[in-house]
Amino acid sequence: MTTELRPVAPAYIGSLKPYQAGKPIEETAREYGLPEASIIKLASNENPLGMPPAARAAIDAILQGGARYPDPNGHALKTALAQRYKIEKNWITLGNGSSDILELVARAFLQAAQPEQDCNAVSSQYAFMAWQNAVKATGARMIQVPAKDYGHDLDAMAKAVTPATRVVYLANPNNPTGTFFSLEQLSAFLERIPGDVVVLLDEAYNEYLEPQLRYDSTELVRRYPNLVVSRTFSKAFGLAGLRVGFALATPYVTDLLNRVRQTFNVNSLAQAAAIAALSDDDYLNESYRLNREGIVQFYALCKELGLTYVESQGNFVVIKVGNSAELFDALLRRGIIVRKVVDYGLGEWLRVTVGLPKENARFFAALRELVTVSA
Ligand code: PMP
Repeated sequence: MTTELRPVAPAYIGSLKPYQAGKPIEETAREYGLPEASIIKLASNENPLGMPPAARAAIDAILQGGARYPDPNGHALKTALAQRYKIEKNWITLGNGSSDILELVARAFLQAAQPEQDCNAVSSQYAFMAWQNAVKATGARMIQVPAKDYGHDLDAMAKAVTPATRVVYLANPNNPTGTFFSLEQLSAFLERIPGDVVVLLDEAYNEYLEPQLRYDSTELVRRYPNLVVSRTFSKAFGLAGLRVGFALATPYVTDLLNRVRQTFNVNSLAQAAAIAALSDDDYLNESYRLNREGIVQFYALCKELGLTYVESQGNFVVIKVGNSAELFDALLRRGIIVRKVVDYGLGEWLRVTVGLPKENARFFAALRELVTVSA
């Protein structure tokens, strides 16, 4: 081996920016000399209720089988999902979180840019960073269509599709802005997209939608064979640490996604917990209720302090705070972890996840103090 040589990766791999995740509680405690129990994390759109109790019991029951590989086909979880979403099992792909689904779609449908073969993915400005990275890791070109009112400009996105476009990515609601588009807007968009272009509709925050905005994603997937809907157990179902997500798509697309999937991508604890969480309606309803109640309070506080915010259908709100780095740090020193969104080009904003009432109250008190002081 000669030391002056090193393994060669394509330039687009070297240019990837590692995903900046929410700052962990343990790390904040270490760096700021705070007790872990005094820290609240409103940074990663996690569920503040903790894991559903039924999921915990399901994990306990499965633990003793930990020496065995998980079911590679997720039979029991797919059966439960099929029942709930009124779809056949061969329309379902399981993922190690829905980030895994986003990667599977990128890997299956995008290819490294070759001089003679252009290939691109169309997304909106403020598209979820993990999707942007999944696209870039394939070497395909990323086309970012400027947002309208912080949300998707579906008309401009449809116009941005070219013969080189293989995937269009939509998030409804969107992270980090929380914006939402209606079924009518979505259907009109889908009518305009050629059948050989995949539309990846990321519905990670679907369960937080207000009832009058909800629509039947299964019906859409049946109507549009180029549509892939992705969902997650990380948010309203309260299982972010276990990593489970899934996709709904035609058997043809599902088969392709399964070809690029790691055989054992969803571990056995995650599969068992997801089945339990799926039938815990009380937990899900409480997640929804608590979140809507909190969102309204977030809006009220922003109005009180004269801060601009974007109305959100997710479990978080982006707030325009001006010097976000300074405020982020001042909040950290008070044991409150929120999220900077500078990577999205929202340098003056912070994204804050709705927590438990007492966590929100602590954040509100800190913001009142810090924003008034700096005004
Ligand atoms: N899509 C969106 C829009 C998200 O905000 C997130 C989580 N932040 C995900 C997908 C992925 O979540 P997970 O991998 O935990 O399912």
